[in-house]
Amino acid sequence: MKISNIPNQIVKGIMTPLDTNKVDTIVLHHMAHKTAGVKEVERWHINNGWTAIGYNYFISFDGTIYKGRGLNVGAGVANHNSHIISIGFQGDYHSVKISMPDSQFESGVQLIEYLQKILPNAKRIEGHKYFGGSVCPGKYFPLDEMTKLKKRGEKMENTYNKVNNCPEWSKATVQKLMDKGYLKGDEKGNLGLNDTMIKILVINDRAGIYGN
Ligand SMILES: [Zn+2]
Repeated sequence: MKISNIPNQIVKGIMTPLDTNKVDTIVLHHMAHKTAGVKEVERWHINNGWTAIGYNYFISFDGTIYKGRGLNVGAGVANHNSHIISIGFQGDYHSVKISMPDSQFESGVQLIEYLQKILPNAKRIEGHKYFGGSVCPGKYFPLDEMTKLKKRGEKMENTYNKVNNCPEWSKATVQKLMDKGYLKGDEKGNLGLNDTMIKILVINDRAGIYGN
């Protein structure tokens, strides 16, 4: 994933760094404008008298990810900017039914995943409308698909194929189940265990379900 700078970015004054531990929500916006690109949106915001483009990041139809305010306090949702990261998406996803270009959607997914890695407390993903007073990012924005990311993220668990790769606290249980023939793995002997399965096996073992 590449994050580009806004060409000749305008910053009037000094941006305030976010307290990144306080960021708990990634907020998604549309532009409520069919064509405006990052420079045009920047101009609107500068004309508002703001320090810079209000969004922390901006994603064009073609999937280009621009750093707006980055990890500085944004201006996406009044009274909430100290604990959110705002991503603006080019386009009007409300007044006309359109579907988001794949390139823009994919960049959105990648940016959210990246931000959730560097901002450990940014667990929530919401549309601007979650905070009230707005229909943003619009009724045709693929909000569910993007917020399901969380579930996608949860599915991306580690896979453990060999006892040696399992977490230390689970090795005795996994070895026992293999010795007893309860766990065999596939034809290559790969166990294919994920984190959830391992936890359940260990709980069962502690409960004495698999014997001694
Ligand atoms: Zn918005």
